[in-house]
Amino acid sequence: MVNIGLTGGIGSGKSTVARLFQKRGAYIIDIDAIAHLVEKPGGMVWNRIVEYFGRKILNKNNIIDREALGEIVFRDSEKLEELNSIVHPAVFDEWRRRLDDIGSKDEDAIIISDIPLLIEVGWHRAVDLVILVYTSPDVQTERIMERNCYSYKEAKDRLRAQMPMDEKIPFADFVINNKGTLEETEAIVDRVWKELPGKGRNAKNQEMKR
Ligand code: ADP
Repeated sequence: MVNIGLTGGIGSGKSTVARLFQKRGAYIIDIDAIAHLVEKPGGMVWNRIVEYFGRKILNKNNIIDREALGEIVFRDSEKLEELNSIVHPAVFDEWRRRLDDIGSKDEDAIIISDIPLLIEVGWHRAVDLVILVYTSPDVQTERIMERNCYSYKEAKDRLRAQMPMDEKIPFADFVINNKGTLEETEAIVDRVWKELPGKGRNAKNQEMKR
């Protein structure tokens, strides 16, 4: 199996590019979906989050209100760290479980995990290859204004809160330039897709420390 981390910035086109790889036969793991799963009532970390932040972060169905939680941790780095220390290990374990599960059934699997914070949390050390979906900040701004109905200022604030995409380039084995049309991106995906088989380096996975 080849274990690939797909990353980028907000609105750079990770989901779009993941779908293009899926069409070509890649298995896709969506790390945000795993985070939602472990945080839902009955999920692995629901209890600990509620214990730490209190029931005020729950909506009426006992579902964790991610907006409310986001508001709290956005202003308080200590609480953000605590939240991450609760959520990340559980997400990491579930991610590994899914990788192992797919790998045990299909040893030639090309698995692409969409992980927005791959580099920020250090999980690039737990994959065989990093693919960066790259766009310029201007294109990113335009696309998230359109997708999320953000004002110019809201879009810029979100970009500013992130690691600049140029700083992610040195970590990438492949950079997919998604500034152009979807057809242009699809042509790059075709080229990269042909390069992926046989690039698994399982030994590297054992070195990962959380
Ligand atoms: P991410 O998953 O990185 O946040 P998305 O894949 O959702 O980004 O892309 C952000 C927005 O930009 C979406 O509305 C998507 O349809 C659009 N988009 C992505 N790539 C392109 C492209 N090459 N041309 C035009 N629109 C695009």
